[in-house]
Amino acid sequence: MSETAECVVIGGGVVGSAIAYGLAKRGEKPLVLDGGDSSIRSSRVNFGLVWLHSKGDGMAAYGFWTRRACDLWQQFADELTDETGVNTQYVKSGGVNYCLSEAEYNKRSETMQRMRGQAAEDPYEARMVDRGELRQLMPRAKLGGDVTGASYGPHDGTCSPLYLLRALHAGMTKRGAQYRADSPVTAIKPVDGRFEVVTAGGVISTPKVVLAAGHGSMPLEKALGFDVEIIAERGQIVVTERVAPMGILPANGVRQSTEGTVLIGTTTESVGFDLSTTPQAGAAMVKRALSVFPALAGVRIVRTWAGVRTLTRDKCPVYEQSGQYPGAFIATCHSGVTLAAVHANDLAEAIHNGKFTPMIDAFHGRRLK
Ligand SMILES: Cc1cc2nc3c(=O)[nH]c(=O)nc-3n(C[C@H](O)[C@H](O)[C@H](O)COP(=O)(O)OP(=O)(O)OC[C@H]3O[C@@H](n4cnc5c(N)ncnc54)[C@H](O)[C@@H]3O)c2cc1C
Repeated sequence: MSETAECVVIGGGVVGSAIAYGLAKRGEKPLVLDGGDSSIRSSRVNFGLVWLHSKGDGMAAYGFWTRRACDLWQQFADELTDETGVNTQYVKSGGVNYCLSEAEYNKRSETMQRMRGQAAEDPYEARMVDRGELRQLMPRAKLGGDVTGASYGPHDGTCSPLYLLRALHAGMTKRGAQYRADSPVTAIKPVDGRFEVVTAGGVISTPKVVLAAGHGSMPLEKALGFDVEIIAERGQIVVTERVAPMGILPANGVRQSTEGTVLIGTTTESVGFDLSTTPQAGAAMVKRALSVFPALAGVRIVRTWAGVRTLTRDKCPVYEQSGQYPGAFIATCHSGVTLAAVHANDLAEAIHNGKFTPMIDAFHGRRLK
C-alpha cells in the first residue's frame, strides 16, 4: 500500500499528540503513527505534575519556556474540555518541594536563589516558606515533625496525564488528524524534497515529518540528519488506595489525585529500559512521604510501577528543523505533560510555519555538542 499525507507525526505520546493537535488546529491534517503496547511510553506512566519551580537550573530559557507553558495551561485545558468533553483535571494549586532538615532547607534555598539569578527577569516567582507559613498554606494537612519548610511555586499544579493524552487524541482527530495505533515506523527516506515513511502497512509519502517518538526517535533520526542523544532514566512510582481529601499541596514526591489516590515518587535510576520495580526504592520513597505526612501510615498501597524518562544530557528539550532536510522536525523532552500547552501552541505554530522563533531555537541540540 502506498499513500500520501500532508504531514506525518511519528509518535502518539503526549509530545507528538500535542504537536499534532496544534497542527490540526492550524488547518493541517496530520497523520499520527504510533507504536504498540510493547513500546516505551512515558506518557502513560508519569506523575502528572504541571511544574515550573525546579525547571531550568543551568538553562534560563527552559525556565521561561516552562513558565509560558504554565501561563497557557488553564486556557489549554478548558479548550480541550470544550472540544472533547474530556476533563484533564488540571488544577493550578501552587506546588512545594518539602525540606526535612535545616541542611535540606538551606540547600533548596541556595538552588532557588541561583535559579532566580540566572536572568534579569524571574520566571518562577517562587520563595522559601518556613514551617509556619507552610502550615498556613495547607491548614488542613498534618505535617510531620521533621518538616522544616519548603520551596513554594505559585505557578505549579497537576493534571491527569492519562486524561490529557485521551483529550489530545480526541481533539486532534476531531479537527481532522488521523491517529493510527500499532503502526511503528521502520524507516524514513528523504526523496526529492519529500519523505517516504515506511511502516508494515505500506509507505507514506509526505513533505513534512515530525519525529516525536520518545525513545523510538533515536533509531530513525540519522536518516533525517539529526543527532540527538536521548537518555533513559527509570522512575518508580507508588500509588495508594483512595483516601479522603488531605488538603495537601502537590510536591515532586507526593500528591493526591482528584480521585483520592496518593502518588508517591519518584526515583532517578540509570538502568536502561528495565521497567522493574524494587522494594528498596518503594520503601525509601514511602519512608520520606511518611515523614512529611504521618497520616499516610495506615493507608494501603495498591500498585507500584516504573517508567522511563526521555532525557537529553542537560535534561532540557531539543527542538530542531533539519538543516539537511528542511520539512523534517524533531521534538523530545522530559516534562512533556507540563510542556503540552506550549507544544500545542508555540511549537506547533513554528512547525506549521517552518520557522523557529528565537525562543524555540534556544533548544536546538547544537548546545549539547
Ligand atoms: C516516572 C516518570 C514521572 C514523570 N513525571 C512527569 C511529571 O510529573 N510531569 C511532566 O511534565 N512530565 C513527567 N514525566 C515525563 C513525561 O512523561 C515525558 O516527558 C513524556 O511522556 C514524553 O512524551 P513523548 O511523547 O516524548 O514520549 P512517549 O510517551 O514515550 O511516547 C512516544 C511514543 O512514540 C511511539 N513510538 C516509538 N517508536 C515509534 C516508531 N518507530 N514509530 C511510531 N511510533 C513510535 C511510542 O509507541 C509512544 O507512544 C515523567 C516521566 C516518568 C518516566
